[in-house]
This record gives sequence, structure tokens and C-alpha cells, in this order.
Amino acid sequence: MAEQLIDTFGRIHRDLRISITDRCNFRCQYCMPVEGMVWTPRDDLLTFEEIERLARLLVERFGIDSIRVTGGEPTVRAHLPVLIEKLAALGVDLAMTTNGATLAHIAQDLRDAGLKRINISLDTFDRDRFVSLTRRDNLDAVLEGIDAAIAAGFDPVKVNAVIMKGVNDDEILEFAAFGRAKGVVVRFIEFMPLDADEAWSRDKVMPLADIVDVLSAAYELEPLERGSSPAARWRYADGAGEVGVIATVTDAFCDSCDRIRLTAEGQFRNCLFALDGVDLRALLRGDASDDELADVLRGNVAQKWAGHQIGTVAFIRPKKSMSQIGG
Ligand code: SAM
Ligand code: SF4
Repeated sequence: MAEQLIDTFGRIHRDLRISITDRCNFRCQYCMPVEGMVWTPRDDLLTFEEIERLARLLVERFGIDSIRVTGGEPTVRAHLPVLIEKLAALGVDLAMTTNGATLAHIAQDLRDAGLKRINISLDTFDRDRFVSLTRRDNLDAVLEGIDAAIAAGFDPVKVNAVIMKGVNDDEILEFAAFGRAKGVVVRFIEFMPLDADEAWSRDKVMPLADIVDVLSAAYELEPLERGSSPAARWRYADGAGEVGVIATVTDAFCDSCDRIRLTAEGQFRNCLFALDGVDLRALLRGDASDDELADVLRGNVAQKWAGHQIGTVAFIRPKKSMSQIGG
């Protein structure tokens, strides 16, 4: 059996998130500033070969069995299906998170390359609100992207909706109806303090409990086993699928977190809220052996903290925003 990446709290890490770019074709309010993002220069991004080497090491040596490709917006990276094919060959549960804007054109290529699951981010069905939230007029393209993902056979297709009080909390039931009608799993996400504009405040968070109240007033929900999923999950009692809430702020899942992260410039991070990471790119480009890389990975995970502490005086906001770490 492979060695396990285990920390001092006994948490075993099996889920790798790889950000492949910090660039994006959107500028979501809760993630990026309108302008002024400085993109990582191309030569500083890990190459597909470097990403593959690290992923293979993590899979073969440490038993990582699930990989999610993310960003920034992963679909803006050229030749994405080539990377997907390399990662799919590792035999893991391979998923991607995308804003969906170009999926209508590439969903089938990604599926054919071996991508199994897809999460598409969509926070509103209202066009003006979409423009205000993403600072782009792409609602129709994202809706077409969701249809293309369904047609390409991704299973499941999930829709991620960040719900903010006074912004889009009046659309929860519309999301539920959409998920039930299309056969997609809706995941409501609490707004986290990782926005580049630093406009986050606790009163803008729509808490899990309130989201569930809204859903339960319209539908009978039955709780589902959570496992290592970051989402609290329910099935609709009438059999029309499932729905979930990722409650990072009001019901943190740190105790069962099994995630590790690789940023686009090759930093290894053991938590979304970690204050820094280790520079694997320097090791890769300095001809480090697999054993040397493995020592660094093992040592970094061993030191993982208990949790992010949002809502307490101990919380320190990471300097990087969601798009730079990889959501
Ligand atoms: N660009 C892709 C997308 O939007 O799906 C992938 C990267 S994005 C950073 C990953 C996820 O993080 C998206 O579902 C997005 O809605 C979510 N996200 C970004 N900023 C967030 C924040 N401050 N709080 C909660 N979720 C956030
Ligand atoms: Fe881009 Fe995704 Fe961030 Fe929106 S949430 S700005 S689509 S990286």
C-alpha cells in the first residue's frame, strides 16, 4: 500500500487541487478586482510536464486518488485537453471547476480526454445581476456551457453558486428548481474572506442554516452521508436529485479535510487559507529527485494546522485571493 500523507491530527490527504493558471476571463466581485491583477508570467507557470510529474508522485507514492483542476479559469490555458489526458492516465477521479463560459466549445474534447466530473460556477439567472457579479456579459454562454456539459456525459454536473446576503439570496429556490429540472447537483457556497477587494464581511454571508430553511420550506429534504465531502448534502425526498451547501464559514469541515493544493506557479499549500506554501517549482527546476520532493511534501502536510479559524480573533486572511490559490 502507498504511504499516506498524514498530519498530526491524523487526517489523511487524498484530494489534490491543481490550479493551472491564475488568469481569468471573468472578474467576479467576490474573487478578483475589476482591474490591476498582475498575472504570473508564462515561464513561471508550471508546465504540463511539471504538473504531471508532481501529480504522478502524489498518486503513486502517497495514494492521492482524486484530482481537481482549477484556477483562475482553467479553460483559458491553451491545450487543456492535453493536460487532462496526462492526468486521466493516472487513474484518479478527475474533475474540474470552471466558470463555464467556453464549455459549449470544449466540453466534449475534455470529456474525450478523460475528465469525469465538472463543476460550473453560476451565481444568478438574472442578466444584469450576472454582469454586475462577474463584470462580464456571459450568462447565456454559461447556460449553454452547462447544457454542453450535460450533453457530453459528465456525471455528475454540479453548479456552484456563491450566495451573498442582499445580492442573490432571493434566487435559492430558482437554483433548486434549475438543479431538479436539469438533473444537476447544486452546491450553494458561503461567501469566504478570499476576495481580492477585501470587501468580505460576516454580515454578507448567507449561512448554511438560512439556506436550508429556504429550501426546506419548498421541498422535503433527507440528509445524506457527508464522508469527506466539503458539502453538507441532502436528497430531495421525491427523488429529484440532491443539493448541498459548502459552509466554510459557519460550519467548517476542517476536521475531515483531506485536501492539498498546488498553485499555478508551483507552490504547495496544505490549506486553502494557508498563509504560505513551499516552492516546488524551484525544486523541480533545480533537479530535485522524487525522494527529495516526497520529503518536502510529507514534511509540509505533517505540519498542517487544525483549521482556518474564520470568525475568531486567531483568523489571519491569506495574502493571496481565491483566484491565485485555486478555489
Ligand atoms: N474560475 C473557475 C470558477 O469560477 O469556477 C475556477 C476557480 S474559482 C476561484 C473556484 C470557485 O471558487 C468558484 O466556484 C467560485 O465561485 C468560488 N469562489 C471564488 N471566490 C470565492 C469567495 N470569496 N467565497 C466563496 N467562493 C468563492
Ligand atoms: Fe474567475 Fe472563477 Fe474567480 Fe470568477 S471565481 S473571477 S471565474 S477565477
